[in-house]
Amino acid sequence: MEIQFLGAAREVGRSAILLQTKQSKLLLDYGLKLGGEDNRTALRPLPVHGYLDAVILSHAHLDHCGAIPHLFQSAEPSVYMNPATLPITEMLIRDSMHIARQRKQETYNNSTFKRMLRNVKPVPYNQFHSPTQDISFKFSDAGHILGSCMTQIKTNGMNVFYTGDYKNTDTHMHKGAKKPGESEVLIIEATYGAREHPDRKKLEKDFIESIRAVIEAGGSVVLPAFAVGRTQEIVTLLYSNKIHAPVYMDGMGRAISEIYLDYSKNVKDYDEFYGAMKWVNWITHHKQREQVFNEPSVVVTTAGMLSGGPVMEYLPELRTLRNSALFFTGFQVPGTPGRIMLEEKKMEFDDVNVNFSNIDIKYFDFSAHCDEHGVKKFISGCNPKLVLVQHGEEEQCEDVVDWVEQEIGCFAFAPKLREKFKVEDFV
Ligand SMILES: [Zn+2]
Ligand SMILES: [Zn+2]
Repeated sequence: MEIQFLGAAREVGRSAILLQTKQSKLLLDYGLKLGGEDNRTALRPLPVHGYLDAVILSHAHLDHCGAIPHLFQSAEPSVYMNPATLPITEMLIRDSMHIARQRKQETYNNSTFKRMLRNVKPVPYNQFHSPTQDISFKFSDAGHILGSCMTQIKTNGMNVFYTGDYKNTDTHMHKGAKKPGESEVLIIEATYGAREHPDRKKLEKDFIESIRAVIEAGGSVVLPAFAVGRTQEIVTLLYSNKIHAPVYMDGMGRAISEIYLDYSKNVKDYDEFYGAMKWVNWITHHKQREQVFNEPSVVVTTAGMLSGGPVMEYLPELRTLRNSALFFTGFQVPGTPGRIMLEEKKMEFDDVNVNFSNIDIKYFDFSAHCDEHGVKKFISGCNPKLVLVQHGEEEQCEDVVDWVEQEIGCFAFAPKLREKFKVEDFV
């Protein structure tokens, strides 16, 4: 078997791994790298030439699925994914297609996207499927977002394990990913390969106390949150801690929450989540936004990095309110408006720099990825002969590679873009 990296090689974004055996050719993920130099373009993985049997999709985030429709301009592979991944993927790809068109960027057309949807094959967790003669695979819950999968691939008596994005400890929404069985080859993400997350319980306590302090001082809080997973988690956390102020949910997180409500078995504590969704005030009309700050309140809304969305409508007024706060609930990529706000307390509105130094701005690290400790624990549990470290910045990947070579003593690489590995040379 040959494994080639068409993206996410010493970078986060555009995950794309090509697997080739004598009888099969398939992809693990085919995503976009969002952002780009001007924060407006989306970078694709390297192209796939010729015939393609299948794509196995780990989860619905665009950095894993966003480029799949492009494949259908020249091929017609089956696309395997968890049933809960499909509606989220459909929504996020439609949204990205819409944005690309608005920006007059070259993209696929609607009928190409429909061709992709016709080729989707939903695969539940924990069942083996055989997309081709010499390959079978099984999904297990990755604990990252709704429907997220780790993939165990069997070919010619050998196991290859692809983590995708995963979290091995519990969050409010999902149980942590279980340890893999033994695998000869491990392809692992290293988003936080050399960083530790804060203790989750302490993080939640600090977060809730900070929000209560703002409310008690008569201010309001805006919580920018990613639509998939983070919005639902933050609302559930506020509900279970009985925040005594109106809490509002706005942006694409609402539509994604509707999807979460359809998949009760994939949510850790569905009763709690359902209660939270009944309790929170859904912003369904533009006019409602004008009334939100009439009293101390909390707003959970997109975009998580202030790159657009309803949050842009709340910020100008928030700035005028006494004792108010803006708390980020996810990592802010360097160069994004969110990162600039966090570091410099300012934001551009219609080419004018607006100062936000009168409000409290903080970042709470609610990550849906495992950290250094989690990565190491996972690798040890897998007893691999070859470890390929990807989906991480260069330094994070190299730190994991060094650790594997020293502590596990097997082959480990942080692949470069286009790099190929013939598995039989290592196992
Ligand atoms: Zn992800
Ligand atoms: Zn990712």
